[in-house]
Amino acid sequence: MPESLGKLCQLLKVPVVSLIMHGHHVNSPYWNLRERGVKPTEAVMTQLFTAKELAEASVEEINARIREAFTYDDFAWQKEKGIRTPQPWRAEGLHKVLYQCPHCKAEYRMRSEGTKLICSACGKSWTMSELGELSADNGETEFSHIPDWYEWERENVRREIEAGTYAITCPVRVESLPNAAGYIHLGEGTLTHKGEGFHVCVSGKHGEFEMVKPVLSLYSCHIEYDYLGKYGDCVDLNTLEDTWYCYPHDCDFAVTKMALATEELYQYEKRKTCQQ
Ligand SMILES: [Zn+2]
Repeated sequence: MPESLGKLCQLLKVPVVSLIMHGHHVNSPYWNLRERGVKPTEAVMTQLFTAKELAEASVEEINARIREAFTYDDFAWQKEKGIRTPQPWRAEGLHKVLYQCPHCKAEYRMRSEGTKLICSACGKSWTMSELGELSADNGETEFSHIPDWYEWERENVRREIEAGTYAITCPVRVESLPNAAGYIHLGEGTLTHKGEGFHVCVSGKHGEFEMVKPVLSLYSCHIEYDYLGKYGDCVDLNTLEDTWYCYPHDCDFAVTKMALATEELYQYEKRKTCQQ
């Protein structure tokens, strides 16, 4: 969440409410949007600040409360409510999020099929229950709760960043969306993500272009899985005038890891800045 949000709230001087829609991610997770017919879903609206409380709160307090209100776990909600997703294809797409095997630690070798998540490197597999939990088909279940697996991946990315070893370079197709008139194909190029941030160079019939996004200019980044069913997974990078949809191809990658690394690089840089 941007740190400017608290300032915006102070500027607007109206009550701040959060609206959390439980069940939407269970019904249509972003890694496989096909609807599971979950019902009921549940919407909870909470007043975080009255206008008077807002006037007395610091920007840090406002941000902390908004952040807390937006921290929620739809998998936990599903289990708590006992909501079943019996679809025989319910695990399909999950490998986009869980891209690293907790057994052999290989990255980019996970695949999914039906109710199974499978590591092609070591052969270990897990079954997703109707309540959204994972269990290993053989041996130890490293993570039964899917968000725990994801947070484990984040910790591994954080360690790479702290050790200065995080870096990825991929060939990319770049589509630009500067306005509502449609995409402009900028061509083929190279995307690099490392300790300094993102760097994309692209060339095509419109010429050569470059985008540089230093770490502190991005607290997070938007990714898409198989965006519009066209060119696969992508990372969106924005300037004030343009959005670049960058589609890595012909290499080992996970846009999920790039998203985790963007957040962890930002936090790492902030910690370093604060210590100075
Ligand atoms: Zn494995």
